[in-house]
Amino acid sequence: MAELIDGKQLAKTVNAQTKQAVTELKTRGVNPKLIVILVGEDKASQIYVRNKQRKAVQLGIISETTRLPEDVSQAELLKLIDQYNHDDTVNGVMVQSPLPRQIDEAAVTRAILPTKDVDGFNPENVGQLYSNSNLNFPVSCTPKGIMSMLKAYQVNLAGANAVIVGRSNIVGRPMAALLLNASATVTVVHSQTKDMKEYTRNADILIVATGIAHLIKGEDIKPGATVIDVGMNRDENGKLTGDVDFDSAEPVAGKITPVPGGVGPMTIATLMQQTVELTKWSE
Ligand code: NAP
Repeated sequence: MAELIDGKQLAKTVNAQTKQAVTELKTRGVNPKLIVILVGEDKASQIYVRNKQRKAVQLGIISETTRLPEDVSQAELLKLIDQYNHDDTVNGVMVQSPLPRQIDEAAVTRAILPTKDVDGFNPENVGQLYSNSNLNFPVSCTPKGIMSMLKAYQVNLAGANAVIVGRSNIVGRPMAALLLNASATVTVVHSQTKDMKEYTRNADILIVATGIAHLIKGEDIKPGATVIDVGMNRDENGKLTGDVDFDSAEPVAGKITPVPGGVGPMTIATLMQQTVELTKWSE
């Protein structure tokens, strides 16, 4: 049976470090502040935003959620972002997705100041990541959290065959860049890939982020591989389930993340960690 990569436990450790860092900053009169902008009434987004706010408060980070109506114009949203960009007390700004149709998501990511871009989506930060810059810059929190998990569980990256299923801007692409920067040999597969499972079966590290429940089965995994399941899908009973069929994958994999309790808690812990990093970098 595979060793379980316990994201929940690891998130506790990261959160404790973040709390400690916040305490130290406060002794110097600095209090990290995170702004989350929520547009519209999407139920899942409301839950995500509430969880982020709760975690921030637990760790001593000042967190404000700004709610905007579903029909807010792009100009109004950009104006608000600009206000936070110019507010010296604000260290991190993020806009919860999905956004309503009248808003151009790319314009929003461009508008957030790179030094306050806690989600790491601004093209300037994406460019730093792709050029393997040695400067300090924020990175998309889910793949950054996965890198922390791989490190904590001593997964060898240099020279490893890493296969990423999914090429989104939030997960797949930044994950590929992080792994390449860590000297893995990286392949990204997606919905147009021919014989996708030919690739997954050769992966020493397999990262799956598709949003398709149980797309990857035990037979698609190389024995002993490290399997990271990013998927968060609801089954017919409302139960959270991953993109990997855990029951058939666990006997084959060497290490594996559960869903829930894997990547999810580490994403939020990384968001808090990165809020503090942005605060320190701006000092
Ligand atoms: P996304 O933007 O919808 O991207 C999905 C990717 O999967 C696309 O690149 C798509 O390929 C690819 N894909 C779809 N069907 C495929 C197939 N049959 N074979 C191979 N590739 C396929 O999704 P996302 O934002 O990356 O999220 C993916 C999943 O992770 C979702 O369940 C989401 O809820 C979850 N997630 C979890 C966290 C967390 O913290 N745990 C964070 C972010 C996302 P094309 O590009 O060709 O369409």
